[in-house]
Amino acid sequence: MKKVLISGGAGFIGKYLCREFLKDGFEVICVDNFLTSERKDLEVLLENKNFKLIERDVTEIEEKDLNDNFEYVLHFASPASPVDYLKYPVETLRVNSIGTENLLKIALKRKSIFLFASTSEVYGDPQIPVQNEEYWGNVNPIGLRSVYDEGKRYGEAITMAYFRKYKVNIRMARIFNTYGPGMRIDDGRVIPNFLSQAIEGKPLTIYGDGTQTRSFCYVEDLVRGIKKLLEADYHFPINLGNPEEFTILQLAEKIKEIIGTEIEIVFKPLPPDDPKRRKPDITKAREILKWEPVVSLEEGLRKTIPYFEEKLKGKK
Ligand code: UDP
Repeated sequence: MKKVLISGGAGFIGKYLCREFLKDGFEVICVDNFLTSERKDLEVLLENKNFKLIERDVTEIEEKDLNDNFEYVLHFASPASPVDYLKYPVETLRVNSIGTENLLKIALKRKSIFLFASTSEVYGDPQIPVQNEEYWGNVNPIGLRSVYDEGKRYGEAITMAYFRKYKVNIRMARIFNTYGPGMRIDDGRVIPNFLSQAIEGKPLTIYGDGTQTRSFCYVEDLVRGIKKLLEADYHFPINLGNPEEFTILQLAEKIKEIIGTEIEIVFKPLPPDDPKRRKPDITKAREILKWEPVVSLEEGLRKTIPYFEEKLKGKK
């Protein structure tokens, strides 16, 4: 039976990947320390005899701890929302540096395909309106967000070094804002915040004046892209995201429209170094992976709302 090692398998995207690989007949070994995820989210997966959980920080995993031959090693462990990585700055840097190298060593020894989950944050606060993979980014190396941005940039650098020096069969996905059922409703990101606020009839909190932009990818589209990347023989970073760009104000209006009740908008201070725009150029993904997102923001929000309603009911 083929095996896949997924770090951060209890996280938002990780859970989708665990389910996908089980469906494809793999044995899934998930490594997670539940720093920003919850064990109870794995309850259903744990009933599957082909799913194994190693409760450990990947910065403490050694190649000799794992005897399996992995077809794939997927590194998705890391705090990923601004609220989370500001709360865990050192852990964020460590999981993307030491954690990445630990997993690269495993991939090297086992001849696995290694995938690093990178991010649009490597572009920082971009000075170009549409970010392609050749853009080097505009990152404040000591800013509050640097723990994530520089952590991921180091992660890419060490992944590339293992490719160049040891010929590890690497993949790097630069993942742009992703949302959908299975997100933590309190992770502090804009879609979970707005949906929770709208469903509970509270004002939507826009940080700054709401003219900053983001491009939101529905999680099932993203997961399809990750799988295509694994199948492709391509060893350089590739943007995975939805190129449709919205201002945060437009997002708020859209959510108000869909939920359909009278909802107020309040403006709060913009966090430091908050990128002013973000929109992926996905030419490479289209050409190399034959991939592009198919779920519009409206459709994706409609698919996500029932999950938030259910979770918020459970909270009461
Ligand atoms: N944002 C907002 N209100 C919120 C949460 C976030 O206006 O309640 C803004 C945030 O300042 C940023 C954008 O929405 O400009 C996306 O933030 P998020 O935390 O989702 O992720 P980011 O793309 O910044 O990593």
